[in-house]
Amino acid sequence: MRKRRVILLGATGSIGSSAIKVAETIPDRMQIIGMAANRNARLLAQAANRALPEAICLVDAAHLDELRSSLEYSPEILTGETGLETLARMGGADLVLVAIVGTTGLRPALAAIETGKDLAVASKEILVMAGETVMTQASQKGIKVLPVDSEHNAIFQCLEGKPKHEISSLILTASGGPFRKLSSDRLASVTVADALNHPTWKMGRKISIDSATLFNKGLEMIEARWLFDIPMGQVQVLVHPQSIVHSMVEFVDGSLLAQLSHSDMCFPIQYAVTWPERIPNALKPLRLAELGRLEFEEPRYDDFPALRLAREAGEMGGTMPAVLNAANEIAVEAFLEGRITFPRIWSLVEEAMNRSDNFARPSLDDIIHADGQARDLVRGALAQ
Ligand code: NDP
Repeated sequence: MRKRRVILLGATGSIGSSAIKVAETIPDRMQIIGMAANRNARLLAQAANRALPEAICLVDAAHLDELRSSLEYSPEILTGETGLETLARMGGADLVLVAIVGTTGLRPALAAIETGKDLAVASKEILVMAGETVMTQASQKGIKVLPVDSEHNAIFQCLEGKPKHEISSLILTASGGPFRKLSSDRLASVTVADALNHPTWKMGRKISIDSATLFNKGLEMIEARWLFDIPMGQVQVLVHPQSIVHSMVEFVDGSLLAQLSHSDMCFPIQYAVTWPERIPNALKPLRLAELGRLEFEEPRYDDFPALRLAREAGEMGGTMPAVLNAANEIAVEAFLEGRITFPRIWSLVEEAMNRSDNFARPSLDDIIHADGQARDLVRGALAQ
């Protein structure tokens, strides 16, 4: 039984607060020794006062005074994106949980790998953007990349010990989001509040919008392709409105293995931390008889083009997934600010993909360049 000494990046977010809860429930197995946030000084101080990490990082230095005055002890304080990297390299830690929204987690994730720490990845954006780089460097260093995203954590559990040639397909389940049943002609008039109103999960704003467009599932398809080193053609999506079956693996003999639990991110976070062991907890157990039934249906591919765009980007590989991801990030920001309609999110992403060159086997610099260009393309389109 080993105790994980964890650096938590994104401590003030939805995943971050679940991770702190898990650490408090299994103190013999998980200790948070470093934590970081962007600018939410008061929440970071509150979280730090509870978990007492040795070091904390607030990326936005403008709020450091507020952080200092809210702390009830004296941890080392870091700032800026370099502070995130320093934290990820910190000695004495053996697992870095990346739960930062967007792509800022990429450099700290690579820093963690370089210093020999395992990675628990919630931030799917970094695997979409640079999956090949992250997984290659992790395998060269002999460190483990543990999926926290519930779908990938489910697949990870179903795959354990199974050779790749026995896999027929990975089946990612999707709740379908708040607009699963909405007719396509009404999608243009949905509001930000409608889109944030996820039927089964309570999550941060960006991923909630991604769940409504189905870009979340699209990003997850590419994430799965890299995490499990499987061709895009073997990654499928199935709508399952109850979010109880978190994903499945279909094997070549026609059997399906699935992982089920209530929709609470504490389950996958705990498994990533205690892997390969399972330990008891106080989370709500699943009673299938109480649920009665589980439903499954095909996604509405024509009405929600995110899945097609993500499959295309994943199949093209190179820098195209980074383009898709970056364009989506800017489009989602614009939607959240009330500047564009909901369907404009995917049309902006498609335009950015059409107008971007794809570079095969890209270096990290190529990826970062493609990411920046895609952001500029979308900002340019928004300015017109
Ligand atoms: P939230 O918006 O709730 O939280 C985001 C966290 O990231 C906050 O701690 C925020 O700090 C921090 N952050 C944002 N930008 C930066 C930055 N530039 N530098 C450092 N820290 C930053 O997001 P979620 O917790 O919902 O999601 C986090 C990641 O996990 C996303 O990639 C998401 O796709 C993924 N994920 C989330 C799930 C969920 O259930 N929520 C499920 C599966 C995956 P601050 O508060 O200071 O802004």
